[in-house]
Amino acid sequence: MKTLIIIDVQNDFMPGGPLEVPRGNMIVPVINKVQSYFDLVVATQDWHPKNHKSFASSHFGKKPFDRIVLNGVNQTLWPDHCIQGSPGAELYQDIESNRIAAIFRKGMDPEVDSYSGFYDNNRQLSTGLSGYLKDKGISEVHFCGLAADICVYYSILDSILEGFYATLIEDASSPLFPDKFDDIKCELAKLGVHIITSSDLHPK
Ligand SMILES: [Zn+2]
Repeated sequence: MKTLIIIDVQNDFMPGGPLEVPRGNMIVPVINKVQSYFDLVVATQDWHPKNHKSFASSHFGKKPFDRIVLNGVNQTLWPDHCIQGSPGAELYQDIESNRIAAIFRKGMDPEVDSYSGFYDNNRQLSTGLSGYLKDKGISEVHFCGLAADICVYYSILDSILEGFYATLIEDASSPLFPDKFDDIKCELAKLGVHIITSSDLHPK
């Protein structure tokens, strides 16, 4: 079963949002186009309580992009984003959602961030995504969404650890820090991840 996982295509990550990803809106037509090529489409949604410890605003004297150690794990501090129930946490208005069978929310524990759609950054709490996919007999997953170098990247790493074959659709994903993305792509390729563009995919 061909499976597409759409990571965090949410308003706050779009240009003009508090944690905007360059070209974040440009990938949306590509994601919408390729959805019909897949048998199963699922999505993730960053979904933080308003006092989340990944927010710089939760730490006196800290500012966004400062780095701290949070409960033993390195943590970049972010602008407030994707607060549960807020308009910024909604899936982006232009993303076609009719074919999304399930949405896995993450980052709900205020004490730990969750870049990956599978596990939190401490690798303690599972979202259930791995079990959901395995229950459906899926062994291979394609990734797209935001941000390519953070939540998509960590989701791919966890998917490998969970035994899935992973593919990144590069033009359906965009990095927060484009300068460092070539290094990440090299690392993923060495781990056996296929990196393709949407033109490599074909309708069913
Ligand atoms: Zn977040």
